[in-house]
Amino acid sequence: MARPQHPGTIFLVGAGPGDPGLITVKGARLLESADVVVYDALANPALLSYCPRAEQIYVGKLAAAHSMPQEQINALLVEKGRAGKRVVRLKGGDPFVFGRGGEEAEELARAGVPFEVVPGITAAIGASAYAGIPVTHRDFNSSFTVITGHEKEESSDRQSGAADSDLDWSAIARLPCIAFYMGVKALPRICARLIEHGMTADTPAAAIHRGTTPRQRTVVGTIADLPQRVAEAKLTAPAITIVGRVVQMREAINWFETRPLFGRTIIVTRTRQQASALSEQLEALGAHVIEAPTIEIHPPADWKDVDEALRRHPLADWVIFTSANAVTQTRARMMELGLDARIFAGCSIAVIGEATAAAVKEQLCLLPQLVPERAVAEALADELAARDQIRRKRFVLLRADIGRSILVERLRAGEAQGVRDVCVYETRRAAAVPPAAVEALASRQVRWVTFTSSSTAANFAALLGGNYPEQLQGVKLASIGPITSSSLRGLGLEPTVEAAGANVEGLVAAIEAHEEAAPHD
Ligand code: SAH
Repeated sequence: MARPQHPGTIFLVGAGPGDPGLITVKGARLLESADVVVYDALANPALLSYCPRAEQIYVGKLAAAHSMPQEQINALLVEKGRAGKRVVRLKGGDPFVFGRGGEEAEELARAGVPFEVVPGITAAIGASAYAGIPVTHRDFNSSFTVITGHEKEESSDRQSGAADSDLDWSAIARLPCIAFYMGVKALPRICARLIEHGMTADTPAAAIHRGTTPRQRTVVGTIADLPQRVAEAKLTAPAITIVGRVVQMREAINWFETRPLFGRTIIVTRTRQQASALSEQLEALGAHVIEAPTIEIHPPADWKDVDEALRRHPLADWVIFTSANAVTQTRARMMELGLDARIFAGCSIAVIGEATAAAVKEQLCLLPQLVPERAVAEALADELAARDQIRRKRFVLLRADIGRSILVERLRAGEAQGVRDVCVYETRRAAAVPPAAVEALASRQVRWVTFTSSSTAANFAALLGGNYPEQLQGVKLASIGPITSSSLRGLGLEPTVEAAGANVEGLVAAIEAHEEAAPHD
């Protein structure tokens, strides 16, 4: 896409209702090329990962503070446009559906700043779909109306004696399917008006909170009892209310909230650099995942050993990678030294774990000769011994500074001719547990914490502080394998499940199986 010259262009982009996958392709591409992103509370901040280098300006409400006034937002957009910036104005749902996008576009037109509009999936469509409610259905309704419930809700309007709405309630009460935006506070009044104006009191209705996100909650009733049910469920904004017989369809097609891990909050402890395959798989099953990086990866203090090992020719009989991170770090160093995969010519490659094997294939274009079935050092040593590949062989181990020395011991004991044990990266504990994870633990919302290595277990406990056993009381713990499990036990924590096969798939399967067997404990 050619970059326009001065003045810049403002793109009013719909972010969709919450699920970051529901932004349009065009919207995502524009984010990738934006200089500036101006976003508010309803746009999922996860979308900002498309534009890590853009200037990111938040104009929504902060905890107690008010949001930036609309005039100021308009002025900001005009200013950035005039400065020649490529600006994405990211708005929840669709920019023109109760999003004040029309006002922003009008202001830009007036100021002569070029703009484009990229529609988005509006909350009524997105939240209803994820609640299992089709907004139209041949058997029930052939029209669908969107209404803001916010209108004239202020008590001052009533005090001044004005009618509490400009809306024609007698017309509205005859509509077969209505989505009310911004109507949580006004819900009792909305339902009362509908009944007063002739809608049958047993008309089905549903309120959907944070639709399309892992925190979606849906309360179903009739227009007679929904306000009370919503109050009892303590459902708050943002929520949308759907009124109409289509709400009944949910009984048959409620697909999103019935996924195996829906509504479960899971803290995934991991290193910052680790691929987020685990989080993605848990999210795909409906879980609300909070990532808690516990360790950070840093280059070794000194590259001398690594450089010496990599430059030696021939390198070794066996090169052993013990983690995917080790592969990534080795590759990066090779590039810096001007070395390529030919340094591995004539070597056999052994790895611990499927993820490490995948990294060797993808990043080094090499096929490992040995991937022991169990992803632990002992299994690797056993397998080498079984193939009579230890005695008189030369080994290079490329691994983290904290790996266990058992492999080195076994190789030496097996009379290897040489074992170079080289640290290609150092691990340090992260500074703190992210606030979202701390809050979720404190409010007892966390169902699971996952551990994919002994160091994630030790570091997570250390980061939580001395009272970690209390903080983790009642929380289910998922361990990737026997070594991580024994580290957890060493910390006084009993794993609830342990993966078979010591891999991410096994971990996910173990959690899923446990939930299926004991969904309510
Ligand atoms: N432009 C947005 C609407 C902004 S008005 C759109 O097209 O969706 C804000 C209102 O939208 C909220 O008060 C709520 O009623 C609704 N809303 C936005 N996101 C929502 C979500 N994920 N779930 C339920 N309602 C949502």
